[in-house]
Amino acid sequence: MTHRFSRRAFLRTAGTLVLAPALAGNAKPLKPRFVIDPFTLGVASGSPLPDGVVLWTRLDIRALANAGDSKPIPVLWEVAVDEAFRNVVSHGKTNADPAYGYSVHVEVTGLQPDRWYWYRFMSADAVSPVGRTRTASALDALTGLRFAFASCQQYEQGYFVAHRHLAEEDLDLVVFLGDYIYESSWGKNHVRKHGAPEPFTLEQYRERYALYKRDSDLQRSHARFPWLVTWDDHEVSNDYANDRSQNLDPDFLQRRAAAYQAFYEHMPLRASAKPNGSGMRLYGHHDFGRLARFYLLDDRQYRTPQACPQRGRGGSNVVRPEQCRELRDEERTLLGSEQETWLADQLGQSKARWNILAQQTLMAQLDRKKNGKGSQFWTDGWDGYPAARRRLLTELARRQTRNPLVIGGDVHMSLVCDLKTDFDKPDAPVIATEFCGTSITSQGPTPAEVENWLAHNPHVKFASGEKRGYVTVELNEQRAQVRFRTVASEKDPDAGISTQATFIVEDGRPGAKA
Ligand code: FE
Ligand code: CA
Repeated sequence: MTHRFSRRAFLRTAGTLVLAPALAGNAKPLKPRFVIDPFTLGVASGSPLPDGVVLWTRLDIRALANAGDSKPIPVLWEVAVDEAFRNVVSHGKTNADPAYGYSVHVEVTGLQPDRWYWYRFMSADAVSPVGRTRTASALDALTGLRFAFASCQQYEQGYFVAHRHLAEEDLDLVVFLGDYIYESSWGKNHVRKHGAPEPFTLEQYRERYALYKRDSDLQRSHARFPWLVTWDDHEVSNDYANDRSQNLDPDFLQRRAAAYQAFYEHMPLRASAKPNGSGMRLYGHHDFGRLARFYLLDDRQYRTPQACPQRGRGGSNVVRPEQCRELRDEERTLLGSEQETWLADQLGQSKARWNILAQQTLMAQLDRKKNGKGSQFWTDGWDGYPAARRRLLTELARRQTRNPLVIGGDVHMSLVCDLKTDFDKPDAPVIATEFCGTSITSQGPTPAEVENWLAHNPHVKFASGEKRGYVTVELNEQRAQVRFRTVASEKDPDAGISTQATFIVEDGRPGAKA
């Protein structure tokens, strides 16, 4: 589905554009000579607004015969209301900046709400594949919204066949909830290899993203819909928390800065997300008329380190609460106090029918007790931050937030849960509905583990760890319809897709119904 257009055709539709732009600043742009196609990393769009969207690409540096010059490379872009680019409604020129890995981020404005657009890029003689994108609905609109959410795509453990099917869905938006890349090589039965050691430097992270970005199924999914993106741990390193790595590496913030910059370089993000030192502002809210507001959260950058790690290490653990007093410390935070306050304010101001907390991991309590005895909790997810979870759920109840839906990933299994301020009270009111999606490829828990968890967690309505895939959500004024879409096998590049389970949430009634 790659569409190629000649340079002449592009210039015709681009109208008055010239290839020798007068640029501010002292870095004179390079007249690029490409030895191969520079657009092999694909195109993407994201962060839709009613009047605009972000367009993304990154030039493949291997394509540049004269890359050693380290100069910005002029790139033209255009947006049309038709796939053949007969009716171009916006166009311009920008630079692929070597300081940002020759990535391109264009913030298009002046578009119409709630409609499809097509876009492409050009540099010298090369024209990119065509992407399709969609603006958000007008701020006062209550029109329906269809989106999918996905997470966790370890490249070695499977093909991105779920993305190929996702690209064929009838959607307006994709929300990606973290573990877009994996820094490490792990798991069983690899179908392909990273072919490089774990990344630590910016160059190494760029290479890891480039490997993932060259996957044609992932490219399809990006080229078909706008995305909202957040990250989890593997975009940097396993189980990191704030400035602390699992290995307590003293130089960890340098590594985090490199990883954050590479994330920015490869995602359709606004300039407001540009890395600033070792930090990067990723969280924010995204409105789709009065129907839906997404709160895209960052539960990695600002969190209190995991409670009661293994001796001499950071990172997660499975602990008995009576043996880990730290776990119940009221000061512990998963979002950081600034983001918590921001979230409470946004929830308070929201006029949306559906309020969707788009975050990384499982929010519901998941007691992993063995043989029915002695509660045990995994400290990397919300179970490691019970006070913060209670604060958030209490806030949702106190503000009477309309239809709160929590979506997540990270645990590589599908779950449907009732969220409560007290999970140990079976008659505590349900405050929000949670849907946790399975991974695109990353391996999940065993059926025996899942069965055990289901038996000891009555607020979990559905759980399955065997299948890989994504979740689709169809929202209208009355209800949300949620489908768990799973592939027959992530090890088979031609695997089919089917619906594993379907749930409904009705307006004004928290809790999913089968
Ligand atoms: Fe994961
Ligand atoms: Ca994770």
